[in-house]
Amino acid sequence: MVIIGVVALNLGIGALGDNDTASALLWFSVVIVTLGFVSFSIVRVRRGFSLMPLPGAKMLSVVTCTQCSFKQMKSFALGDYVSKQEGKCTQCGNPTLFISGIFSEDTKKK
Ligand SMILES: [Zn+2]
Repeated sequence: MVIIGVVALNLGIGALGDNDTASALLWFSVVIVTLGFVSFSIVRVRRGFSLMPLPGAKMLSVVTCTQCSFKQMKSFALGDYVSKQEGKCTQCGNPTLFISGIFSEDTKKK
């Protein structure tokens, strides 16, 4: 499409040099259409990229202890799942820590 636009532009300039205004206008309109189409495609591709899941969207895991009221938010790690044992509780020392929930924190809060 860019090549067609460039060729049409050259033909338009050539026609303008020959004082052929009608042909020049025709070629310039072709140039505008092709360039418009190209820029539209670029905008559409960029929009597609912005629709992809943002890497900035935070995933959080809620770690809860069944023996005490200990509750902690930690950033989601690969392999985390609900009810997964998290080991020793930092507050009471019992090995009763587990993941009670996983959620994503939208960085764009309304
Ligand atoms: Zn505890």
